[in-house]
Amino acid sequence: MRLALANLKGGVGKTTTAVNLATAFARSGLSALLVDLDPQASATFSLGVGRDQAEVSTAEMLAGKAEATEAVQETSVLGLHLLPGSLRLAGMDMTLVRKQEPEKLLKKALGSVRRRYDVIVMDCPPGLSILTVNALAAAEAFIVPVVPHRLDTEALASFLSLVESSRDRIGRKTELLGILLTMVDHRTQVTDDVVAAVRKEHGSRVFRTEIPINVRLAEAPAQGRPIFDTESWSTGAAAYGHLGGEVLRRARKAGLL
Ligand code: ATP
Ligand code: MG
Repeated sequence: MRLALANLKGGVGKTTTAVNLATAFARSGLSALLVDLDPQASATFSLGVGRDQAEVSTAEMLAGKAEATEAVQETSVLGLHLLPGSLRLAGMDMTLVRKQEPEKLLKKALGSVRRRYDVIVMDCPPGLSILTVNALAAAEAFIVPVVPHRLDTEALASFLSLVESSRDRIGRKTELLGILLTMVDHRTQVTDDVVAAVRKEHGSRVFRTEIPINVRLAEAPAQGRPIFDTESWSTGAAAYGHLGGEVLRRARKAGLL
């Protein structure tokens, strides 16, 4: 299964979800690949690789200067490999759009490694730039993380309709696997209200699992390891473990696994 994490909004937990979900898959015995498409390279950094440490990254892969097999790295998590991102992804929009079928570059580049993995998880930068379009075109399904604040839920609706209006570039088949509520803080009444509103509007498209606001999730990246490695007992790790199970059940039901 190829899965992308995307949203128009920044800071909604795309990277935290990509890293911890890929780790949850690897821990459940699947072979997993995490693809970092963000110039900020936060997913790469979270796995202990410096932002500009990787000599060959997804930037060179997309530019056609390197094969995916040259860029793949092992990580400290057994069963989890990484296609690192780098700052060199910044400003690639202009060069990529001049290429033939610019939205299919990632899909083609992953062709040589695809069959080695049970799951490929792609972390996108915020927005719907050519990088995110490439991830959505290479993916079979996508997850939209959303923080239950009013402005964020408006951005969710905009993102979903933007994806629909970009179908000619993304392809028809990539489906919404689910909407994920992240950084949920049930100590405030407004959270409860927004969560209820999102669930009412989007129904079963919203994952049952919610990711609570959890300081350990925010601290783990600086240690360069996914949360399971450092704090396997925390509520954040437990939530991502749970989400892993729910995502796999949905994916099997949808025939993706
Ligand atoms: P960007 O759009 O910049 O790539 P993003 O959508 O990938 O952002 P993250 O980087 O995953 O979002 O999260 C934003 C910030 O919130 C980070 O500092 C992260 O450590 C923190 N964070 C993510 N999830 C949680 C959580 N459940 N509880 C507390 N902090 C969290
Ligand atoms: Mg991110």
